[in-house]
Amino acid sequence: MNVSYLDQWKYLKKIERLELWLFCLSIPGVIVLSILSKKIGLNISSGIIVFFCVAALFATDLAVLRFKCPRCQESFFRNRYVRNGFTKKCMHCSLPKWTPNGMSPEKYAEKSDPDDSVIGDQWKRPPK
Ligand SMILES: [Zn+2]
Repeated sequence: MNVSYLDQWKYLKKIERLELWLFCLSIPGVIVLSILSKKIGLNISSGIIVFFCVAALFATDLAVLRFKCPRCQESFFRNRYVRNGFTKKCMHCSLPKWTPNGMSPEKYAEKSDPDDSVIGDQWKRPPK
């Protein structure tokens, strides 16, 4: 399976956004669903609604933590001893988060900018 770095970062961004939305909407969602269930007459306990919200948050958090580094294919957010959901580098190979193709984002920006010098263009420019 050959999936590009960008596709894997897009997947990570998608599940991180889903987790953020679930987190932000869980408390008002529980309140609204509790009120709606009583008005409709379903009599669903708010404890059950809270349980499903917590389960959904747990599932998305697990999906984020199980994300594999695009370069080394090890877990990006945890190593044998430490689990860090906020790290900006792979816990195994130090690949910076959101790196498009294996090089650092700064180097990628340098190379992708056509006006900036790349190694081959140094010889065409007059010396400063
Ligand atoms: Zn890695």
